[in-house]
Amino acid sequence: TTPTPRRAADRSKVYMADLESALHYALRVEVARFSVLTGERVRALKDFVAVLAKYFPGRPFVRNFLRSVDRWLRNVRESSIPYSALELVLTNRKEGQAPAVLSNNVTWVGCQGSEPHFRGYPCSLWTLFHLLTVQATRHRRLGTGPLEVLGAMRGYVRSFFGCRECAQHFEGMAAESMDKVRRVDEAALWLWSRHNRVNARLAGTETEDPQFPKLQWPPPELCPPCHGVVNRRHVWDEVAVLRFLKAHFSPANIFLDYTE
Ligand code: FAD
Repeated sequence: TTPTPRRAADRSKVYMADLESALHYALRVEVARFSVLTGERVRALKDFVAVLAKYFPGRPFVRNFLRSVDRWLRNVRESSIPYSALELVLTNRKEGQAPAVLSNNVTWVGCQGSEPHFRGYPCSLWTLFHLLTVQATRHRRLGTGPLEVLGAMRGYVRSFFGCRECAQHFEGMAAESMDKVRRVDEAALWLWSRHNRVNARLAGTETEDPQFPKLQWPPPELCPPCHGVVNRRHVWDEVAVLRFLKAHFSPANIFLDYTE
């Protein structure tokens, strides 16, 4: 689809339209590529939806939708799931009720590229998982351990993410150091630092939208105290970065512009 021209998004905000579009695309496009889910993909889907049901700070009907999909998946005892069965649950039609479903298309706001092939879904997937790692730090009592959200992301990316080269790179970083993460705060910082590694690797390549150069994020204008200099070299202040991540990916910083 051709993006509709609109005023530029504010880079200091997170947009619900991007997050809901990520949910739609993940569940109805990427997972739908497999007519029958088996083995590791069943596990990955269950773990992904479980963290969404717990931590996604969505509008009430979206939270209800995610909880009902999670309940359904938990009750599946078979080792394989036909996508057609999941699709009925994702459509969630009940007689006489407004369907509690996600919109059936994507609207990119913070993730809108200057051309249709830039940004979009991969941008929204990063945003979604940063948000989930941060939400897990706010709801520690719900959690099952520091790797809950990162493990769900690793499984989703390995099983479903359509960019297979991206999935391989991410799996390489995960295998190297993800299981050294000991606390939920460290999980949020792990994802931040790995995303910056990806940004550094991709800077200047053809995947970079010229309107959105790959930066080491957050840049000084978004977070002055995150940046320091020691012996004339740039250093991150990770205490300040964590504070910034918690504020940036908080429900108070998610804007509803362009949601239906
Ligand atoms: P993105 O990098 O997608 O970032 C989205 C938004 O997140 C930014 O606009 C910013 O607001 C915020 N952000 C940026 N950096 C950080 C950070 N460090 N911490 C927290 N928030 C941040 N593309 C490839 O070509 N090769 C790959 O190997 C590759 N691997 C990928 C692996 C994964 C798991 C994912 C989700 C994507 C991968 N991609 C890869 C896609 C690539 O990383 C970008 O998503 C894509 O190029 C779009 O870039 P973008 O400018 O929209 O910003």
